[in-house]
Amino acid sequence: MNALRDRNPPAEFRLRFTWTTGFCFKCEEATQVAEIGTLTVDKATVTLAACHLCAWRLERQHHRGSLLH
Ligand SMILES: [Zn+2]
Repeated sequence: MNALRDRNPPAEFRLRFTWTTGFCFKCEEATQVAEIGTLTVDKATVTLAACHLCAWRLERQHHRGSLLH
């Protein structure tokens, strides 16, 4: 049960974001993505969008409650 939860975003994680069709910045594939933050490059602000799995993995890597601080 725990192993499954580690690999798949729980429902409450998905509910925290608004999912739209777009490009995951990691997979570079058109899929359901959420805006997970912004990146400033050369004074331009780029919105980062990630798919369910990438967003979940990133959040777990950060070991914090939320990406949206
Ligand atoms: Zn992805």
